[in-house]
Amino acid sequence: MSGTLRDKLEAIAAARFDGYEIFENDLLYYHASPAEVGRIAADLGLTCQLYQPFRDFEGTSAATLARNLERAERKFDVMQALGCPLMLVCSNTREDASTDVALMAEQLHALAERAARRNLRIGYEALAWGRVVNRYGQAWSIVKAADHPHLGLVLDSFHTLSLRDDPSGIADIAGDRIFFVQMADAPWLTLDVTNWARHHRNFPGQGQFDVVDFFSQVLLAGYTGYLSLEIFNDVFRETPNRRTATDAMRSLLYLESEVRKRLTTEALGKAHGAAAERALARVDLFDPPAPARFFGVAFLEFAVDEQGAASLGAWFDALGFCRAGKHRSKDVTLYRQGDINLIVNADPALPAHAFFVDRGPSVCAIGLWTDDPVRAQNRATALQSARFEGPLGPREVPIPAIVAPGRTAIYFVDQALAPDRLFEIDFVLDENASGAGLLRRVDHVAFGLPQGELDTWILFCRAVLGMEAGASLELADPFGLIRSAGIATPDRALRFVLNVSLGQKTRTARTVSVTGGSATVHHVGLSVDDAIAGAEALRARGTPLVPISPNYYDDLAARLDLDAATLARMRDASVLYDRTADGGEYRHAYTASFADRFFFEIVERRDDYDAYGALNAPARMVSEAQQARGGK
Ligand code: MG
Ligand code: MG
Repeated sequence: MSGTLRDKLEAIAAARFDGYEIFENDLLYYHASPAEVGRIAADLGLTCQLYQPFRDFEGTSAATLARNLERAERKFDVMQALGCPLMLVCSNTREDASTDVALMAEQLHALAERAARRNLRIGYEALAWGRVVNRYGQAWSIVKAADHPHLGLVLDSFHTLSLRDDPSGIADIAGDRIFFVQMADAPWLTLDVTNWARHHRNFPGQGQFDVVDFFSQVLLAGYTGYLSLEIFNDVFRETPNRRTATDAMRSLLYLESEVRKRLTTEALGKAHGAAAERALARVDLFDPPAPARFFGVAFLEFAVDEQGAASLGAWFDALGFCRAGKHRSKDVTLYRQGDINLIVNADPALPAHAFFVDRGPSVCAIGLWTDDPVRAQNRATALQSARFEGPLGPREVPIPAIVAPGRTAIYFVDQALAPDRLFEIDFVLDENASGAGLLRRVDHVAFGLPQGELDTWILFCRAVLGMEAGASLELADPFGLIRSAGIATPDRALRFVLNVSLGQKTRTARTVSVTGGSATVHHVGLSVDDAIAGAEALRARGTPLVPISPNYYDDLAARLDLDAATLARMRDASVLYDRTADGGEYRHAYTASFADRFFFEIVERRDDYDAYGALNAPARMVSEAQQARGGK
């Protein structure tokens, strides 16, 4: 976490953690004695549960052992002043460490004996890059051989899962000999394990490890102690620590609820039968309302000023939307086509959305059709999202809503109100307006996120909305890299794309900075039955599409056997193409951007294509950059 030791303690206390493990460096350079730090923490309602790390202890010469025991006594002094009962000893990483496990057990026994004199305990952890001991199974054998009641095991999901070690053996360890459990997730990276561990760990639910299986095994073993997060992450170091602490708490609550599910209803729980029942009886795992079902996007609300309302309205007209209604009391207009509802809000009271810093033109709220708005909101608040109550006009009906990360409001709209009853309440609908057109529904909403918010959003979407994360890709904008990740509900009725610019100079980065650093809707994918015909029709109506280089189509012809007539039409209509190994196809075209803020993408999915044509995005980004400098 960012900040000084006191900042960190205050942030986790605000997020309602019970305690903390202290990483020695946080204490060494902080101007307060260990006893004072203990008092600061106690005032915040926090207890110190672990002191770490004590390195390179076991498997040394007799002379080094004597010095190590003396070093340990000084750390025991600090721990007692802090009020900390447990010290973490991580496996030796020194080149000259002995391979003699009997010697390691004997030396750890000696350390545990010293700790016992002060009623302290020692937890032994296998580091993934330990010289001899790098797996929990080895560490457990040594702890058993040492056989001292003040010596136990520390388990860390990162060290086990990064080595692709099998966690199922954890269930056979005696639960009371596991003294502490540290959880971390991470993306799969091809990187040496030390750098991976020190820079890319993240919270459970943010990465790609099966942390749910790991913690399930821990509970099957009979563990009932603390659940801690040990994360080293470059982005977290610079992220506001209140947000990090909220993400941290959300990740643990989500982990608990997923473990509960796995042990009650899934194969692992069934395989362990009575042991799974005992595990669930020993600990009270968090049990939030189940995720609601989402049927797609009910509406997108755009915040604009008066002038923006006119130009955005004209833009929607050209896209074939009709003006379907006016709000009963505010300067708000509804545009419709197919199942797509766009609300243009030019109400001067809109800035009363105090949480919303971006005055537009931009999407300030998203409505989602759901089977159970109240459950959706209750799950969100149980998982640490803030409830949102927008300003209500006369006769308006409140809709359950929450604040998404980046301060966009998400409304949960009852599917029973679809398609018209929702809008009849607030709008005078134009009975002559026809919503017929070639655009069908919202396929995906793509967000541009500030640097450092990607993990926050992935966890939010998974935990709060019950979505599943897809592949994460790096795309080359002409001025920097963009990381893009798709995330969708299991039935794919609702899809988001999360884009974060790794550089400061890309168009995505500039758009996010215009918003004052909030997440912003970057584009909206709208489905059509036939993307080529759709692009031709839009262009005929005067909607400019992003032109795609002829070289792109030459390459397409070289790579894929597309028929010449189709290819020629795609080239003329600036339609891009992607095909997966199993035959799914994606045809899509991008509109020009509105006020440099957002654009639409028309998309046609065939044969269960499940991605977003991300590899074609550079064709758009390069073309836009080239247009911006007059074709050069
Ligand atoms: Mg650890
Ligand atoms: Mg897209």
